[in-house]
Order: sequence, then structure tokens, then C-alpha cells
Amino acid sequence: MLACFAGWRLFVAESVINYHEFMSTEGPSNFIRDIIIEDIKSGKYGGRVQTRFPPEPNGYLHIGHAKAICLDFGLAAEFGGKCNLRFDDTNPSKEETEYVNAIMEDVQWLGFQWDGLYYASDYFQQLYEWAIQLITAGKAYVCDLSADEIRAYRGTLTEPGRESPYRNRSVEENLDLFERMKKGEFPDGSRTLRARIDMTSPILNLRDPVMYRILHMDHHRTGNEWCIYPMYDYAHGQSDSIEHVTHSMCTLEFENNRPLYNWFIEQLGIFPSRQYEFDRLALTHTLLSKRKLLKLVEERHVEGWDDPRMPTLSGMRRRGYTPEAIRNFCASVGVSKTNGITQLQQLEYFLRQDLNRIVPRVMCVQKPLRVVIENYPDDLVEEMEAINNPEDSSAGTRTIPFSRTLYIEEDDFREDPPKQFYRLAPGREVRLRYAYLITCKEVIKDSSGRIVELRCTYDPATRGGNTPDGRKVKSTIHWVSAAHALSAEVRLYDNLFVKEDPNDVAEGQDFTANLHPESLQVLHDCKVEPSLRDAAPGTKYQFERLGYYCVDRDSGQRLVFNRTIGLRDTWAKIEKRATTGA
Ligand code: ATP
Ligand code: MG
Repeated sequence: MLACFAGWRLFVAESVINYHEFMSTEGPSNFIRDIIIEDIKSGKYGGRVQTRFPPEPNGYLHIGHAKAICLDFGLAAEFGGKCNLRFDDTNPSKEETEYVNAIMEDVQWLGFQWDGLYYASDYFQQLYEWAIQLITAGKAYVCDLSADEIRAYRGTLTEPGRESPYRNRSVEENLDLFERMKKGEFPDGSRTLRARIDMTSPILNLRDPVMYRILHMDHHRTGNEWCIYPMYDYAHGQSDSIEHVTHSMCTLEFENNRPLYNWFIEQLGIFPSRQYEFDRLALTHTLLSKRKLLKLVEERHVEGWDDPRMPTLSGMRRRGYTPEAIRNFCASVGVSKTNGITQLQQLEYFLRQDLNRIVPRVMCVQKPLRVVIENYPDDLVEEMEAINNPEDSSAGTRTIPFSRTLYIEEDDFREDPPKQFYRLAPGREVRLRYAYLITCKEVIKDSSGRIVELRCTYDPATRGGNTPDGRKVKSTIHWVSAAHALSAEVRLYDNLFVKEDPNDVAEGQDFTANLHPESLQVLHDCKVEPSLRDAAPGTKYQFERLGYYCVDRDSGQRLVFNRTIGLRDTWAKIEKRATTGA
């Protein structure tokens, strides 16, 4: 336990260091940044820096993409360069305009603005012409092998590949067949265009990779203009080159694609973009794969792409994350050349840090317990002054009505208080935040024995929570006035997956087996202070002593809040330790 605690402290200290590093004008150092500095020094690319962020519009962006965005846009900005947003839309079967729009919204929300906005599909004609150039030079050929056959011919890491029987077609025949592929004369999958490189290369990607396949399918932008579509490897490097991208950053799984990226650029003699790979972000208790997130949406395990439990930027936005928190987190994880796993707590640390700084404090009682102050006048309502944000004096103060009947949190009362429980109990005095000290005199129960009301008294000399005689109370609890409070729904979220690694499943199962059955808990009868009456969707608060919350877009006549993240609750920890013996 002690070691674990020490580890946590160490981690927090490190994050703070990274955070400050990030905030300095220099930017956090990393190997890609070092390469850029070298390139600028040596005058490569004339000292110019051009990057791009190249999402495939086949899903919504997630926190992993945020890391890439911060790097692509951040490095360009740091060195006075430019960053394009380019949709890598070469696969019409999975791409949609809905995703294009969502991606643009999310990039801007995160705080970045692209210089050029492009689509790989803008380059279909150019890519086609380059393919003809490669065929003419004897460097590409039309192959009639099926996808399975191509795979079988390719060989393995230990076995060389075999040459396709179609590899030695004449240039004329290749040009004719490719033209007819384009015209739509052949069915899907019947032919491909392949680069003619080396079937014995130790690099599998260089064993005559496929450049084009036939796909009779409408494209979200080019409609039915094309029925041949370029493969990722044939499109990506050349798209970078067309945009004169100097430093093309992508994740480590593309390391093996780099030789091919370079091969096409060299054969075509076009602008020499270069690719650099960095580690992919992975977070505990969540999944960062559009394909898997799509499955959660399609199978209705979540409400949609912007479900507040999703690691998508739209889900995180709805949950109450700020762009600053996400950017600071991305800076803290840095970039490296080996993949690792980052604790979700690290993200939550930066979230709390930012919210603590900016959001107003208000009072909400999640599980209301009625309190009647017997010696408080029946018809009196006092306005208590409350501080909006102790971290920000410019946020000012507001008033909260106080009256004879209040709600406090059910959890803040114990009829038979255990050791170390310092909140309200029979005969005990506690402070009501910004109001008075009260003492519990009597517990009222219904016929089933459930506690339904507490009878208390207050000390009129303690207004504002001060004790003129200097007597101490061990606890301050939050409350709302029953007659003035507004009803609200509060949605409490927990991790979407129970296991740190959601992919850790028994044979025959998939990651959905690890879904957390109680990742969403809805409280229907919460009470919030009246100042929240007109709270607009997206507005963020700290509910005192409970955590950070934000108004959901479902909020209207009836207020609906999402719990963004809890405060660290010391009592819950003590109690858990007591019950689990941990
Ligand atoms: P997914 O598997 O979620 O679909 P992807 O890599 O296929 O991810 P793209 O739309 O192709 O998604 O990614 C756009 C850019 O974002 C790429 O440069 C990719 O390397 C980067 N990226 C995607 N996921 C992560 C991640 N988890 N961490 C860092 N960068 C990422
Ligand atoms: Mg992809």
C-alpha cells in the first residue's frame, strides 16, 4: 500500500514537470522534434516545416488521434510551419460524410486550425497518371491472381515469395488492361495493379504490393467516377508529396510501410516527403480503435459515438472534458519509439487540474435526506453568500437561499457512525457550508425502518459557519433548501471496461465480454441550488464535495448533468479499505 502511494506521488510530480515543460515556449523535446531542428539547421526543405493530420473518415476521432493532432499541429506551429488536414478517403466502403464533419468539428474543438483542407480523393486523377507512368517504366503490372492467391504467393519472413505468372506482361498489355479496369470492364476482385519490385525482398511490403483494386462502389465525394481505388500505400506517400509535406508523422505500425513509401516517391521522382513513426497511445480500461468503437455503437452497448463513456473526442466533450486538459495530457505522455500503456488516471489528473482552475462551485445533493431545523423560523429565508471559485477571485460570489427545511446527502448521515466518520450523527454538530452549525436531535423513520427525516437545531450565532466561541466541528457538509432546490437527473459514469486491458478475454469471446455492467448509473431525484436554473448544455461545475459535472445536451425543462469525474473522496477510500481489507 505504501509503495503504491509513493508511486502515485512520483507520477503526479512527473506530470507536473511535463506540464510545465509543455507550457514553456520551447515545447517538449522528443526525437521527432530533434529531427526537425536538425533539418532546419541543415537547410533541408529550405528550413520549411509542413505536416499533416491524415484521418480516415471511417469513424469519430478518439483520444489517440488527439495525441497525433497535438504532434502534427503542435510541431508545425512551434517552427512556424503549416499543418494540413487531409482525409485519407481511399476506401469507399467504410467512409462517410458524417465522419468528415465530425472530424473537422473535433479538430477545431481541440484548439487547432488547419492550413490546407484536402482529401486523398482529390488526387485520384494524379495517382492514376502516376500509375501509368510506373507501368510505362515497367515498374507496375496488372495481375489476375485473387487476393488469396496473392497472399499465398507472397511467402513469409523466412520464405521468399513466388513471382506472379502475370508479372511479365508487356507494357502495352498492362496499359490496355489497366485502362479497361478503370472503364469498369472487370468485376470486383478480378484484377489488381501491382508494383513490380522484388518478390525475394526481406521486406514483405516490397514483394510486389497491390497499388489498385477494383471496387464498383460509390465514393462519398467522387460518386461513381472511379471503380478502381488506390491502396493506402500507393496513396499516402504521394499525397504527402503533392502537399510538399516535409515531416509525415504516423504511428509505429507503419514502420514496415516506410520502405514502400520511399520507393514510390523515388521511382516517381517527386517531392521527397519523409515518414517518422511514433508510439501509439493506449489507455487502460478503454479501447482506441475506430473499428471496435464502431462495434460498441452498432451493437448499442453505448448510446452513440458521443456517449460520455466513449474515449472519442465528442464523447469526452459531452462528458465535460476541456480541450486544455486533453492537450496537457498529450504533452505529458510525450512521444517515443516503443508502444506502452498509459494509466487512465494520468488523463484524469490533467482533467481535474484544469477543471479545478476554471469551473464555478455549486451545491447539489445527489441522494437527498430531509432535514428540518426545528428552531428556525417557519417563514424565514436567508440569502447566504457563497464563493464561486476559490481558485479564481475574479469569479466573485453568489447567494444561496437557506430555510427551515433542507436536503443533505444521505451519505453524510450515519445513525451509528463508525470510527473516523465525522459527519452528521445523532447528537453531533456539523457545519452546513456557508450557513450555520446544526446538531442532530432526532431521527425519523418510516414503517419499514428507513430514515426519512432528521430533526435538527441550529445555532443562530454561527451564521456563515463561524463559531464565536471557537468550538470546533470536524465536518462541513453541503445542502440545498428544499423549497428552492431544482430537481435534476445526474448520470454517473464509470470505466466502460472492467479490465485494464479490455482485449484480455477467454477464447471465443471478444472485448464486449469485459464491458462494465454498471458503467452508467442514473440518479433521478437529485436537488441542485436554484442558481442552476438556466444552465446551458456544456456548462461545467464543481458540485461541492462530489466532483465535476457538466450539463448534458439532453437537459431542457428537466436539468440533466453528467458527472465528468469525481473528486478524490477520502472517506470512500477509508471505507473501502475497511471492507476489503486492502
Ligand atoms: P483506428 O485503428 O482507431 O482506426 P487509425 O490509425 O486507423 O486508427 P486513422 O484515421 O488512420 O486511424 O489515423 C489518423 C492519424 O492518427 C494517423 O496518423 C494515426 O497514426 C494517428 N493515430 C490513430 N490512433 C492513434 C493512437 N492511438 N495514438 C496516436 N496516434 C494515433
Ligand atoms: Mg486506419
